[in-house]
Amino acid sequence: LHDLELIQVGKTYPDGTVAVSDFDLKVEKGEFVAFLGPSGCGKSTTLRMIAGFEDITNGEILIKGQNVSAMPPEQRPTSMIFQNYALFPHMTVRQNVAFGLDLKKMPTWEKDDKVDRILDMFDLNDFADRRADKLSGGQRQRIALARGLVVEPEILLLDEPLGALDANLRRIIQNELKLLQRELGITFIFVTHAQSEALGLSDRVVVMSNGVVEQVSPPKELYRRP
Ligand code: ADP
Ligand code: ADP
Repeated sequence: LHDLELIQVGKTYPDGTVAVSDFDLKVEKGEFVAFLGPSGCGKSTTLRMIAGFEDITNGEILIKGQNVSAMPPEQRPTSMIFQNYALFPHMTVRQNVAFGLDLKKMPTWEKDDKVDRILDMFDLNDFADRRADKLSGGQRQRIALARGLVVEPEILLLDEPLGALDANLRRIIQNELKLLQRELGITFIFVTHAQSEALGLSDRVVVMSNGVVEQVSPPKELYRRP
């Protein structure tokens, strides 16, 4: 059973824009897959369909054999990380991270315990009670990652997560993502228009153009044609 499977997936927006067509992909558990392509080629649309945020107009998306379209939001084993972090600026770091658990039914002590552990993991303990908008870009990206991971997703979906960071921080967070992949053993789907990020981070690159998949291969074999 594959962790994630896209079968002939397509998306046509209500205004008639065909954003994605005939997208086929099988992803193994623990794999790091990058979607690479220019702005407007359909990367985010595909990611949002995997997350269940966007209706699928053709084909189907399966996570561990289960149809995403049939899963209630609180049962989807995915978390999404956004380029602009999408934090609540007026809330504390702890509140922002705990928000990831709000949909989950579990005792408060268990939620607190999970939040504490993830704050620890991201070195955010000292900032736990500070407002999110008082922190730096790198710290905010760590809060967003912590919020995404606190629910213990099977698949982490990252939409240009390094786009708002400077070159130095981008390198640091890139390294942290690789470490997380190794430590947690979860699947990463990473959207980017930057070739260097896709090549540096992923086990496989899905090259997209105009809503279709052009090539799927490990970074080393990319663009090499027989
Ligand atoms: P990317 O993430 O690669 O930049 P997107 O998935 O955002 O690409 O967009 C793919 C195509 O779908 C683009 O032509 C974009 O303008 C269009 N699109 C995205 N969202 C919508 C929407 N809500 N309604 C109509 N068209 C959209
Ligand atoms: P990205 O490509 O980084 O995903 P965009 O700047 O293309 O972001 O799009 C930002 C938002 O606008 C997204 O929510 C997208 O769905 C929406 N959008 C993009 N293109 C269109 C469009 N042609 N019509 C309506 N909404 C769109």
